[in-house]
Amino acid sequence: MKSVGREIMWNLPHLAAVIMYSLLGVVIIIFAWGLYERIRSYRRGRAEREDRLDNLWDRTVDFLKIGLGQQKVLERKVGGLTHLAIYSAFLVLFLATCLVAVEYDFGIRILDGNFYVAFKLFANAFGLILLAGIFIALVRRHLFRPRGLTTDGDDLLQLLLIGAIGVTGFLVEAVRLAATEPVVAPVSFVSNAIVPVFQGVPLSNLLSLHQGLWWTHLLLAFGFLATIPFSKMFHIGAGAANIFLRTSRPKGALQPVPNIEEEEKPGVVDVEDFSWKQLLSADACTKCGRCQDECPAFAAEMSLSPRDVVLKTREQMSRDLFSRLVPSAATLDKKTGKPVVPAFNRDVLFPDEIWACTTCRACMQSCPVLIEHIDMIVDVRRGYVAGAKIPDSVRTALRKMGDTGNPWGLPQDDRIRWADGLAVPFAADKKEFEYLYWVGCAGAYDPRNQKVTRTIVSLLNLAGVNYATLGLEEMCCGESARRLGEEGLFELGLVEMVREVFASYNVRKVITQCPHCFNTFLNEYPQFGVNVEVIHHSVLLQDLIAQGKIVPSKPTDRLVAFHDSCYLGRHNDLYDAPREALQAIPGITVNEPEKSKERGFCCGAGGGGMWVEVPGKRINHIRFDQLMRTGANATGSTCPYCLTMFDDAIKFHNLEDSVQAKDIAEFIAESL
Ligand code: SF4
Ligand code: SF4
Repeated sequence: MKSVGREIMWNLPHLAAVIMYSLLGVVIIIFAWGLYERIRSYRRGRAEREDRLDNLWDRTVDFLKIGLGQQKVLERKVGGLTHLAIYSAFLVLFLATCLVAVEYDFGIRILDGNFYVAFKLFANAFGLILLAGIFIALVRRHLFRPRGLTTDGDDLLQLLLIGAIGVTGFLVEAVRLAATEPVVAPVSFVSNAIVPVFQGVPLSNLLSLHQGLWWTHLLLAFGFLATIPFSKMFHIGAGAANIFLRTSRPKGALQPVPNIEEEEKPGVVDVEDFSWKQLLSADACTKCGRCQDECPAFAAEMSLSPRDVVLKTREQMSRDLFSRLVPSAATLDKKTGKPVVPAFNRDVLFPDEIWACTTCRACMQSCPVLIEHIDMIVDVRRGYVAGAKIPDSVRTALRKMGDTGNPWGLPQDDRIRWADGLAVPFAADKKEFEYLYWVGCAGAYDPRNQKVTRTIVSLLNLAGVNYATLGLEEMCCGESARRLGEEGLFELGLVEMVREVFASYNVRKVITQCPHCFNTFLNEYPQFGVNVEVIHHSVLLQDLIAQGKIVPSKPTDRLVAFHDSCYLGRHNDLYDAPREALQAIPGITVNEPEKSKERGFCCGAGGGGMWVEVPGKRINHIRFDQLMRTGANATGSTCPYCLTMFDDAIKFHNLEDSVQAKDIAEFIAESL
């Protein structure tokens, strides 16, 4: 097919092009100014504490997959497909407009023949997809209102604006088709379907109508582009940048504070105490609410919503930006003459909100633009700790950790009570061993978890593992202190003590009972030059079973609901080994709760939650109910904190006679 195309700027006077390009110049200036102000806002943040431009190849691949490819957006069906429709149509139509501009500006004939036909088909199809996406988004947001998806004026305005650009685009084309009746009109199948509406309208009226619609379409599109840096649509650029600049730390590692001894502001008090990257990430938020939907603290009606932490940061930043852009609108401090902005960590973020986080990582797992909520929350905790503005429960836990080396505040001499009457090899006696068995504070002090420790020791002895424990030389690994924001105690106190004891026994491999110790040794100690191979007891037991060194043979009729510990699962992707170890027991039935693996639900004890009292429902009770809904008569877990939490829920419901909470080591031991 040859000489099929259309005249660009048909029915428009030459002056129209001059006005259009002048307006485009204004749009570019407004856009650039908005972008500059945004960047100025981010630059008010502190320097980043990690390299955000390392591993450029991996970053590019992630950007293509998660950003351009919308991989994480599509993890949710309705919301994901709706976003994909709007996003892909937006991209295709933008490229189509660029092609038209290239042809017009450079006089290169591109839209001709078969290519023109394909172009028109695509443009109409994606225009339709755009309108369908906008329609579904409006219906979802305003009729069905899924929990977690909140809508404000900006959301509505942007949807209506994009929708109006799409509708006027089709109308401009429909009027042109009605006036010119080209042979290829049917390929513009959407616009062509509108043509009958204009049948019988005199040509002169059609020409005027075309011009009016063309200008409306142009002004809407230019208005949209110019206001991107000032609206939620800025998430397009900020989201893409945030994905590219994602952390390359292991998932379970918090950001350290370099030179903590000299650091005057280890945490966040004001919004500009966040790093520039954290401020950028606040602008990346799409307000999808997925983080909030997955948050156990939010489900327990505590005052925390991870989405709101991000959005309140953005709001504070925007407030600051607005007062710079429109100084007359800001309330000025009478003494300094500077705009008054609310105190960030008191009036904007609230302590109960910040202390409610269990650092379970469900928010980060679900966020389509890779916002790092946990670092933001822990940074605010660091700010509270540095300013000594902490609740009594946190103060008590931190004091106990500092004074006695364990969060229970029990004497160091009691650390070895669990071993009474048991054949336990101690490092001080054995000197040479392959594995150091790190019992952890819960395994050493908590009576229920002492039983698990004894069971693990009996299994290690049975399998002939060459190991030793530290006994009285063991101390807290510092995990809870770090997550409660006491970075100084962690970095300068506990890490140093552990480093010394590991060095004195030349420790190379560590077995941990607790996923929190596991994660800390594996992912955080290397930040301070302590590198050991770490294996969690559930993984070791699965391996020993696979090697035939432990043979579960006694059948059981237990129905076990398996609970993923956040620090073994989401933080370290260890899902299969504990399940395989359990399933090796003859007769056992392992039930998966509705929320499991990557989308598992926290027990409520992580992130210092074991020690902190925050108003709200009990997260462990919610999780226990989820596990019991599988019809199980036992909970299976791999973490001393989870075990304590489920034991507590069983007692609360008076179910001691019918339901048991056990570590998987105990199920295995039962079957021997
Ligand atoms: S880490 Fe868990 S508890 Fe904390 S905000 Fe995220 S989802 Fe909520
Ligand atoms: S932080 Fe991420 S998951 Fe939460 S609302 Fe924003 S974009 Fe969605």
